[in-house]
Amino acid sequence: MAVIIDGKKIADKILDEIKSKVSKLENKKPSLAVILANDNPSSALYVNSKEKKSKSIGFNSFVYRFDKEVEQGTIKNLIIKLNNDPNINGILLQLPLFNHLDERELIELINPKKDVDGFHPINVGKLNCGLKPYAKCCTPKGIIRLLKEYSIELTGKNALVIGRSNIVGKPVAAMLLNENATVSVAHSKTKNLKEHTLRADIIISATGCAHLIKADMVKKGSVIIDVGIVKKDDGTLLGDVDFENVKNVAGFITPVPGGVGPMTIASLLENTYELYLEQLEN
Ligand code: NAP
Repeated sequence: MAVIIDGKKIADKILDEIKSKVSKLENKKPSLAVILANDNPSSALYVNSKEKKSKSIGFNSFVYRFDKEVEQGTIKNLIIKLNNDPNINGILLQLPLFNHLDERELIELINPKKDVDGFHPINVGKLNCGLKPYAKCCTPKGIIRLLKEYSIELTGKNALVIGRSNIVGKPVAAMLLNENATVSVAHSKTKNLKEHTLRADIIISATGCAHLIKADMVKKGSVIIDVGIVKKDDGTLLGDVDFENVKNVAGFITPVPGGVGPMTIASLLENTYELYLEQLEN
């Protein structure tokens, strides 16, 4: 039976450490600005939870909510204002946006030094060059932290990332490569996924396909990180991995919920704190 990776416990540890450091600050507190420009209920929930957690560890949190009439120019002006505001350390553009908005233009307008999500091309480029980005994408950063907390060796291991999105698949593949893993990336056009999964020492699955990964698809003793979140009609959450059966074959496994999810918010607030420290020095 696999070791269950407890993301909630590690996330709480990270947040407690930041809270303790923030409580000792004599000067201004770290500040996170979040822009919400869509009417997706899940995004509203994520933003509320980010706001609540930010405040609970002593950060200032500002949320800018817009309705569907909002124009691109209004958000551009807000980003420019936040870029120039010395009291704001991190800017987060909650994705997805209303369809009529140009996501790329807005992401590229955020000052890379305040790009708390690590989505700006400068930060993506730094990551891919093996350099230190101003901030690393939150979910991938949280995944690497989980692997390290459980002392899981990455060097020379066969790591399979399933999913190639800009927010999870590609950046986690880059981070694993930077950690000397031998990385493959699968996606919806990959043929014979099972052949790839059976070769992997580490699987990071980020597809949003409930129970895509079955027990007969994983190597005995392998490490299974489940990023997927699928909400059923009754409100329960499923991951990409058939947890109940896969846990009998894997060596380590993350549950859904309570695995990667809490690490994403912890990484976001850690990024905000790190940007704050860098901005204090400059
Ligand atoms: P996304 O942009 O929809 O990307 C999904 C990826 O999965 C795509 O690359 C797609 O391939 C691939 N894919 C889809 N079906 C597949 C299949 N049957 N076999 C192999 N690959 C397949 O999603 P995302 O934003 O990366 O998010 C992925 C999942 O993670 C979602 O459930 C999301 O809710 C969850 N998520 C969780 C957290 C967290 O904190 N826990 C954070 C972010 C996302 P193509 O590129 O070929 O279409």
